[in-house]
Amino acid sequence: SPNSHAASAEFRRPVAIAAEAKSDAGKTRLTFVLSAPVEARSFAIERPDRIIVDLPEVNFQLPAETGRRREGLVSSYRYGLFAPGRSRIVVELSQPALVSSVEAATRPADGAALLTIELTKTDREAFRRSAKPELPAVPDPVSTGSVASKGEDRRPLIVLDAGHGGIDPGAVASSGAFEKDIVFAFAQRLKARLEHTGRYRIAMTRDQDAFVALDERVRMARAAKADLFISIHADSISAAPHIRGSTVYTGAERATDVESERLAERENKADAVGGVEARETASEVADILQDLTMRETRGFSHRFTKRLLGALDPVMPLSKKPHREARFLVLRAPDVPSVLVELGYLSSRKDIDLLTSEAWRERSAAAMTSAIDRYFGARVAGHGAPTSP
Ligand code: ZN
Repeated sequence: SPNSHAASAEFRRPVAIAAEAKSDAGKTRLTFVLSAPVEARSFAIERPDRIIVDLPEVNFQLPAETGRRREGLVSSYRYGLFAPGRSRIVVELSQPALVSSVEAATRPADGAALLTIELTKTDREAFRRSAKPELPAVPDPVSTGSVASKGEDRRPLIVLDAGHGGIDPGAVASSGAFEKDIVFAFAQRLKARLEHTGRYRIAMTRDQDAFVALDERVRMARAAKADLFISIHADSISAAPHIRGSTVYTGAERATDVESERLAERENKADAVGGVEARETASEVADILQDLTMRETRGFSHRFTKRLLGALDPVMPLSKKPHREARFLVLRAPDVPSVLVELGYLSSRKDIDLLTSEAWRERSAAAMTSAIDRYFGARVAGHGAPTSP
């Protein structure tokens, strides 16, 4: 029966009861004390720099503070169930380091199994050569648009998503201006600005006034292994022309408030407006692997949101609650940090004056670029706070 199978799996599962990290001379050793020996496989991932250790399913019974303190090459580590039958340890590195050995030993006093992962300091180039992409590639999208192939170019890839397009105009201002044109003009300006720094590769989900389905936008970002996805919109609340300012949304199953929920519903209808069926693909959180990845990704989305609001504040008044969450289909990539920026409201006279001004566009694109610089700067420096598994 399924029950007795689960019970015997539970019985066989090794228990981790202690862990410690120690350093000397450019090495940091991470030792786990287990009830039985386990096989470990490790690999490195860049941006942020991490060492991933894959294990069979382990029951981690460790004190809550385990892994939160910096020790030598390890800025923090976390652990937990990754997929059925598989556990994982994620080590956030304080500087480039590679696994130099994985040793299994028995502690004579009590027969406990010791698993020791030894990290040795290395340089950026050697780390980069050993690092591998985190997730299997998604099949190429139908329209690759302007997404450049990653090749040897390791600069972060930012996907700019100008909302709506083609037969879907988005919101319409009282002046008659369309959201799709305003956000496209802004996305173009931002793209030019970011490219000018020479620090990023930029791709657009649409490079003309064309309809692109929501899941196609997400698929393009995933297939290109984007490091950041920024969806650009400018909504309208015709019932409240006094409401104005920028808002940044991140994805969540539950909306922070009713207005955000309604906005997400409206935006999620873009596919229907474009004449295609909105597809709720199987990418949702049914699977624990994606659930864990999604949680980590959302941590990055939130960090970027903070930077973005800080940078936007001087160039555009922020809305009353400037960071909100809702179930936007376009923010559902489990592996790409994603935000949706509402630049302002087309229903506000003051906002639309800004949104359609070339000078404002330039200032805001500059502000967003500096937020992006700070976000990637912090990630490269390894200051990212860990998310618990
Ligand atoms: Zn929109």
